[in-house]
Amino acid sequence: MYCNFCGRQIQDDAAVCAYCARPVGYAAPKRHLYRPTEGRKIGGVAAGMAIYFGEDVTLVRLIWVLALLLTIPLAFVLYIIAWIVVPEEPLRLPAATGTVSSPSPQT
Ligand SMILES: [Zn+2]
Repeated sequence: MYCNFCGRQIQDDAAVCAYCARPVGYAAPKRHLYRPTEGRKIGGVAAGMAIYFGEDVTLVRLIWVLALLLTIPLAFVLYIIAWIVVPEEPLRLPAATGTVSSPSPQT
């Protein structure tokens, strides 16, 4: 791999150029734990955890149900705390379609 800034050959998995110290390559976006607004059953905690960890939401719900059955008060309290602490997913605005036409001068 070559640095886009100084043009020198650098390590293929490098995140920063060793010569000019500029960030190179793809940096994975930072993940956030959210309670999604869609696909939730109760509070969206399990759905949010499934998205965060990249697991199937059904598996995460089954783990929550098992945890509830095995540790009845503890898992319930943890779910309520997660429901309160984990923020709701920010609203997504619909993509803009078309172009905004500038008002034509009135005569
Ligand atoms: Zn460089």
